[in-house]
Amino acid sequence: GVIIKTENIERVYITGPVKTYALKDISVEIYEGEFVAIMGPSGSGKSTLLHQLGLLDTPTNGKITIDDNDIINLSDAKKTQFRLDKLGYVFQSYNLIPELTALENVYITDMARGLGKEKYEKKAKDILEAVGLGNRIDHYPSELSGGQQQRVSIARALVNEPKILFADEPTANLDTDSSKEVIDLFRKFNKEIGQTIVMVTHEEEEGLKADRIIWVKDGLLDKDKIK
Ligand code: ADP
Ligand code: ADP
Repeated sequence: GVIIKTENIERVYITGPVKTYALKDISVEIYEGEFVAIMGPSGSGKSTLLHQLGLLDTPTNGKITIDDNDIINLSDAKKTQFRLDKLGYVFQSYNLIPELTALENVYITDMARGLGKEKYEKKAKDILEAVGLGNRIDHYPSELSGGQQQRVSIARALVNEPKILFADEPTANLDTDSSKEVIDLFRKFNKEIGQTIVMVTHEEEEGLKADRIIWVKDGLLDKDKIK
């Protein structure tokens, strides 16, 4: 079924006298289990769209439904809880805590939530194993390559089995081989556990590995490229 639905969303940024119509009118449906790439020229609104879908920002107008919840009318506290319970994020910068090992970076949220040590350690180890870092769990971010750090951030995003994983240019800082590893991992989680994934990328080759590409142009869906 449909897991994310937007209806006529707009996002206008106002900076002093300047208004930027980053998203003008976007209505789109994303299905459970889909691996979707959002593509389009620089400045077309890809990141802004991802931020609306991922509850990291609020549209100026329009409606968003995620997993049958009317998101726009949730209080900020409920939104935060919704993000924690149901959504995972990967960004182009890995945002790992430098003083913590890979394992600690992955379990920190569960630890803060008061889950038992045995349980949160096992969950973190299992997911680090699944991203191919079983032999790096005690390494600090500075001891890991960019690709490995991104895989830690993917493990952190997935450890609590989010309904939807959002990724904003996850390979922008990676070399070709590491980029391929990251996209192949997404593909693997999508295939094996039906993970819904929404990813912004400007690499067409990466977009083609998704099930579907949503093309954005000047803040609108690029109708010419909708199949
Ligand atoms: P893309 O991800 O496709 O490169 P963005 O969504 O980042 O595009 O940006 C879309 C447009 O909105 C651009 O013109 C950008 O400069 C503008 N924009 C994005 N974020 C902000 C912001 N916080 N304040 C003002 N303008 C912004
Ligand atoms: P990334 O490439 O990681 O998405 P960006 O450089 O696109 O990062 O944007 C970083 C931050 O700056 C975002 O929060 C975005 O909304 C904001 N931003 C992007 N474009 C503009 C702009 N023209 N004016 C103000 N803020 C912007």
